[in-house]
Amino acid sequence: MATSRRAARPSIRNAPPPAHPTEAYPKPPFAAQTQPWPGLASRMQPRPDHGEASYRGSGRLEGRRALITGGDSGIGRAVAIAYAREGADVAINYLPDEVSDAQEVMELMREAGSNAVAMPGDLRDEAFCRRLVGQAVDELGGLDVLVNNAARQHAVKDLGELTDEFFDWTVKTNLYAMFWLTRAALPYLQPGATIINTSSIVAFEPSDDLLDYSATKGAILVWTKALAKQLAERGIRVNAVAPGPFWTPLQPSGGQPPEDIPGFGGDTPVGRPGQPVELAPVYVLLASAEGSYLNGEVYGATGGRSLP
Ligand code: NAD
Ligand code: MG
Repeated sequence: MATSRRAARPSIRNAPPPAHPTEAYPKPPFAAQTQPWPGLASRMQPRPDHGEASYRGSGRLEGRRALITGGDSGIGRAVAIAYAREGADVAINYLPDEVSDAQEVMELMREAGSNAVAMPGDLRDEAFCRRLVGQAVDELGGLDVLVNNAARQHAVKDLGELTDEFFDWTVKTNLYAMFWLTRAALPYLQPGATIINTSSIVAFEPSDDLLDYSATKGAILVWTKALAKQLAERGIRVNAVAPGPFWTPLQPSGGQPPEDIPGFGGDTPVGRPGQPVELAPVYVLLASAEGSYLNGEVYGATGGRSLP
């Protein structure tokens, strides 16, 4: 009889069971739904999975201090929960209209033992961006991780209907805020600090009804690569994440034409949108010391649509 010579392994408690990616989370068709901008995760059907019940930390960000924009819902909320459970102190920014979503995140972060800080405000204002960074540094006692994640996405089918006001809104939220926050944060960032920007698959496969949004997501990619080169000497790493379709309030609150919501994510090889929790490990890796050779990279999570 064959006998195993392998030493007994201590039980691994953190590993979820393997699951078929297609079946792991909700699939289309979804109920038709729209919300006024900026949308609430609590009003989505089904509610997005941000890892509330599932994400388990293992101390990978012990003692880190992070500022996450758009931390109330969607991808930002999943990152906030994961960072808090990995041992980080976390400040989240969101819009005042999103306070109910933000309160849910704050409670979960505090339960995880994080020194969680809520900082509502509009990132289209440079003075607010500066105050936000200053306040985060004061409340957290410094800053090690900046996650630029907030965004404006509004589908407009015809270029003739893309107003200056809408174009400006998108560029201010997606590009200027990233620039203002990063510039304000730099004096506080020490070697080992990281900046993580949220791009999108549309930087590679732009959508015909998201001209302004796609252009900003492409610019975020290029900015990330250039800044990574500039800051390497200072020991600060800069990376980007490029998600495919994710089930978040951005989409039913104007990000997609309403008729595209029921089938959202169905055109990916796995046949469904991603859930925010499925991106959290990528943001954790990019922020952690284990990611020390990851710099100027773009991480896709597209359900198989693939990036170049
Ligand atoms: P989300 O709606 O949950 O998050 C976006 C957040 O941006 C909002 O919660 C809001 O707090 C914040 N925001 C918007 N305008 C703001 C302003 N003027 N001031 C302050 N905060 C503001 O949606 P999400 O999908 O999790 O979006 C997070 C990031 O992921 C965005 O950068 C988005 O472009 C990117 N992304 C999303 C998808 C997707 O399919 N959901 C795909 C690719 C990239
Ligand atoms: Mg939100």
